[in-house]
Amino acid sequence: MPTTNYIDGEWTDAESGETLEVTNPAYPDEVVAEYAKGSAEDAEAAIEAAAAASEEWGATPGPERGAILNQTARLLEDRKDELTETLVREEGKTPAEAGPEVQRAIDIFYYYAQKASDHGGTVKAASGRSKNLYTRKEPLGVAGLITPWNYPIAIPAWKIAPALATGNAVVIKPASLAPGVAKGIVECLDEAGIPDGALNMVIGSGSDVGGVITDHDAVDAVSFTGSSAVGHHVYDAATDDQKRIQTEMGGKNPTVVSDTADVEEAVDIVASGAFGVTGQACTATSRAIVYDDVYDEFVDGVVAAAEDIEVGPGLDGYDMGPHVSESELESTLEYVDIGQDEGATLETGGEEVELDDADGYFVSPAVFSDVDPEMDIAQEEVFGPVLSVIRVENYEEAVEVANGVDYGLAASIVTDDHSEANRYVEDIEAGVVKLNEKTTGLELHVPFGGMKNSSSNTYREQGDDALEFFTTTKTVYDNY
Ligand code: NAP
Repeated sequence: MPTTNYIDGEWTDAESGETLEVTNPAYPDEVVAEYAKGSAEDAEAAIEAAAAASEEWGATPGPERGAILNQTARLLEDRKDELTETLVREEGKTPAEAGPEVQRAIDIFYYYAQKASDHGGTVKAASGRSKNLYTRKEPLGVAGLITPWNYPIAIPAWKIAPALATGNAVVIKPASLAPGVAKGIVECLDEAGIPDGALNMVIGSGSDVGGVITDHDAVDAVSFTGSSAVGHHVYDAATDDQKRIQTEMGGKNPTVVSDTADVEEAVDIVASGAFGVTGQACTATSRAIVYDDVYDEFVDGVVAAAEDIEVGPGLDGYDMGPHVSESELESTLEYVDIGQDEGATLETGGEEVELDDADGYFVSPAVFSDVDPEMDIAQEEVFGPVLSVIRVENYEEAVEVANGVDYGLAASIVTDDHSEANRYVEDIEAGVVKLNEKTTGLELHVPFGGMKNSSSNTYREQGDDALEFFTTTKTVYDNY
């Protein structure tokens, strides 16, 4: 029985006695690892341990907390190659994609190690002689973190590190499809000396373990990243209990290609945003909104770029890896059928790729042209390498189409006209706007989050915004 849950400083098996098998999406017969499948009881034990440890961890001086995060970053760095390989085997990214993700997790721990050291009360103003008016940032208590499989080390890192830096005790439930690298973070924190109970991890099903985290009275804050369907449920459950809540969810991210754009550059930007990480990014480019004058040239270019991508196991040197699971592959293939039924033109791709030596969940990158903005393939998150190209006449129509979806996570524009780009920044409904850049990727020290159906919260992740989410402010008037 594997002992892969981490509760009150101990590695434990699951109360349920069940195990969770994770297989390689490039070679589905290969079992990568077996984990203890935690139950609701394990989640309760983890939350109780966190609640018991939270006061002491919250009172630990910032520099001491920072030293533990710093040491964790060093230990992750020592294990970078091994964690990269685990990520590739469990989730399917190529090493060229997984390596930078692991590095991102390392950088996040270094970043919040520094923030933990700096964190504390700051004198904001003095009102009259010998009187002090200042604010204190205090931890919330117990933070419940629920994370998706698509960035299985970066997202746990960008929640765990700021939660611990600000003095919260943590219970994390990583995604069942790829928990191995989140476990790697927990192992490094354990080795770095995190006190018992300040960090807990339970691997297990979303409804069992995740449900307890969102409902339990002793949890003060829930930070969730995942699909909009689950996110809304988590939001309702957590707000019913008056917890602080952060839900980062799906996207339907547009790149506008203006008639002043360098079309070759636009093709590179859109193709890497749409097909990188097999299109399994919340910020993946799924709509190219292209001015009539450059439409045909753009479609030819992006079709050629898609056809240039070799699909297969990342560890064998291919450009694009598999879908994470059979059901994700089927969902993408279903959207390809829906697009054709709706009358869009499938220019290339969208077919299952069968290789002699690997029978994983591979699909060829797909490009649809003649897409109407109201079609399902232009409205719904596909979460696969499927690009819809939509023709527009001018800027006004481009913005109307770009904003004409329920989501508002990331958006970009490719244009040679800086004033058009500046208008776009003002007009677009998205939490992240990029100019002459792909929709995916963002530096770690700036706020990240969405609008509309992409994010049902006012708190952003990353940078100082994450510190705000995990703390409450006390204002002190000192008249001694
Ligand atoms: P998901 O199915 O919503 O799962 C996310 C997490 O929630 C997993 O840990 C899952 O557990 C858990 N969960 C499932 N049901 C739950 C419940 N009833 N209560 C509490 N937790 C529950 O999402 P996913 O398929 O892992 O990830 C892909 C989605 O994430 C996409 O929609 C993508 O756009 C979004 N995403 C958003 C961002 C962002 O920052 N906006 C970043 C990355 C991904 P199990 O794994 O055990 O099912």
